[in-house]
Amino acid sequence: MRAFGYQRAASPADAVGALTGHPEAAYLGGGTNLVDLMRLGVVRPSLLVDVTSALSGEITETEEDGLLVGAGMRNSALAADPRVRRHYPVLSQALLAGASGQLRNMATVGGNLLQRTRCLYFQDVTKPCNKRAPGSGCPAIAGIHRDLAILGVSESCIATHPSDMAVALAALDAVVYVEGEAGRRALALDDFYRLPGDDPSRDNTLSHGDLVTAVELPPPTDLSRLSTYRKVRDRASYAFAVGSVAAAVTVDDDVVTDIRVAFGAVAPRPWRARVAEDALRGHPLNREAVVAAVAREMERASLLPDNAFKADLSARIAAEVLDRLAASGRQGQP
Ligand code: SF4
Repeated sequence: MRAFGYQRAASPADAVGALTGHPEAAYLGGGTNLVDLMRLGVVRPSLLVDVTSALSGEITETEEDGLLVGAGMRNSALAADPRVRRHYPVLSQALLAGASGQLRNMATVGGNLLQRTRCLYFQDVTKPCNKRAPGSGCPAIAGIHRDLAILGVSESCIATHPSDMAVALAALDAVVYVEGEAGRRALALDDFYRLPGDDPSRDNTLSHGDLVTAVELPPPTDLSRLSTYRKVRDRASYAFAVGSVAAAVTVDDDVVTDIRVAFGAVAPRPWRARVAEDALRGHPLNREAVVAAVAREMERASLLPDNAFKADLSARIAAEVLDRLAASGRQGQP
């Protein structure tokens, strides 16, 4: 491992100042992904700026009755918060589906958003990888790609984003607050992540030195209260998703009045399934309709031999969770 400097930031402005002019410096939160990548030699920062004292680790209520979650909040604390569990169950469930108890106790909300892909080639410095070493190629396309993406991919990269939490935040229309050299700005989650295109090295729209300071959840609604997260993985716990769905739905006389569907493990970012949502909104909710709506979403998919199953898997998960949510809604159990 390369020798590196370490300093502790006292405030977001202090942290941003510490990275300015240091292109090889990086922020350190819980370290549950960054330290692994440093050990593997995937990233080699010259300086770590510890932001755990600079960021809020708490939730505050906004004037509109939403929640502002400090980026330094630990994943386990966010999952356990009674307001989150009651009004945004999809978020609590997604957090608890991620990693292990020990990792959730360390990992921060900001770090969760910014974690890197677990593509095997990205983590192996002896292999080419356009994301880690731009221009070196993408061996996953002709190689091991069973866990990789089918939507939003390019010829340069088919990596998936690994966060469960981010999939729930996509379904909730969360907003990410960022502090940078130009001051503070808010980014809709849609605008926070980017697709690989011909530059897979960047997972998001942040610039060097930008610091995620908070995530805002919009005011709770019947829709957010009737939301859930379902994750399919190769073993019962402590595994990344093979497929996942964050969903929320309200129905009236079995007709969908509002709906949110976001897929995980199928794209380089949380994938908000707006085509499927539009196909279902205003129509009766049943298994056949959900499968047909997801099939329309997947018309844009690029399927490879070993990951093609994800299109059908996503449809099956969505059909199951939406059916269950609608049944809960009929029984008045948001
Ligand atoms: Fe690298 Fe992306 Fe290809 Fe994986 S899929 S090897 S991360 S370029």
